[in-house]
Amino acid sequence: MKIIDVKATTLKGYKQWNYIQIETDEGITGLGEAHPGEGVIEVALKQLKPLLLGKDPRDVEPLYHQMVNAPKNRSSICLSAIGGVETALWDLTGKALGVPVYRLLGGKYRDRIRLYADVGWGKTHTPEAWAERAREGVADGYQALKFDIDGSANELRHDAVNRELSTAELAKMTALVAAVREAVGDAIDICIDCHGIYSVHAAILLAQRLEPFNLIFLEDPVPNENVEAMAKVSAATSIPICTGEFLYRRDGFRELIQEQACGILHVDVSGTGGMLEAKKIADLADLYYMPFAAHNITSPVGMTAAAHVCAAVRNLYIMELPYHADQVSWRWDLVQSEAPLIQGGEFVLPEAPGLGIELNADVARAHLMPGHDYFG
Ligand SMILES: [Mg+2]
Repeated sequence: MKIIDVKATTLKGYKQWNYIQIETDEGITGLGEAHPGEGVIEVALKQLKPLLLGKDPRDVEPLYHQMVNAPKNRSSICLSAIGGVETALWDLTGKALGVPVYRLLGGKYRDRIRLYADVGWGKTHTPEAWAERAREGVADGYQALKFDIDGSANELRHDAVNRELSTAELAKMTALVAAVREAVGDAIDICIDCHGIYSVHAAILLAQRLEPFNLIFLEDPVPNENVEAMAKVSAATSIPICTGEFLYRRDGFRELIQEQACGILHVDVSGTGGMLEAKKIADLADLYYMPFAAHNITSPVGMTAAAHVCAAVRNLYIMELPYHADQVSWRWDLVQSEAPLIQGGEFVLPEAPGLGIELNADVARAHLMPGHDYFG
């Protein structure tokens, strides 16, 4: 079997959603979603396609390393494209062998993937509005909710650019999270994202204030570039610190894992280098009994790829559902699967060969990014 063409298309979702289609001389095709963003499919077509033409698509890992080993392909935007190509290679290989992709990753530990819904924030930054937003997520069936706390008390900042938190900010943030906990009760999990903007001291103050609310994790309390700083925050609070969405490949996670600088890894399958690389990162973390969570901002195609990884990873904790993306009304119509992908607030793994889903071409064509064709 040989690759005869690599095509791409891009849709206007809540982000720019990018898709790769790989075609073979035997008529089998593979579909993958690259990490969202501009310029990604151009990289796939200009830099990756020439490396793939004529190759056997079932040599997924050797092809991955061939793509990554080219020095010009190591930027984050190239890894975004490589993630889409690698996923398409797995989809194609699964179809060729008649098995779901999770079988090729070692088999599944679970059929359903626990989700946290990233709800963002309330209509306003008041305890009442945050509680209302929490009740919306619970009403939609989700058992875990994530709120973004940075920016929720900007009117109380002493300085617009430093990394500190005023006492008044801390008090307001605490009240917002308290309102969420009171609204949802103890049966629902809560996580809080800080987007990496605080100092070590401010992050520790915030974490300690939030400890009474039994968060499942506090995400990116400090910037993720400094493992020692992350480790200091982790050591100072009982809340597990979750980080990793901007780290790439095993190399990017090595020090974080070795130093056990966080409580939970947050790996973006489409962004970090693809499905097998994410599985390998999870396995490295498991050496330290560290849980694996899947960061996810893709459409249902990329989310399905992440779900196959989550199914095949022993130390899975939870996967992200970009709940705020429900502003894209056609999101779940974009893919066709034998059974609904979301059932009871969980992601149900498809069992058909490959990823187990197909793009709905009519829906995709109706939402093409201006200037782009459907796998033209
Ligand atoms: Mg985040």
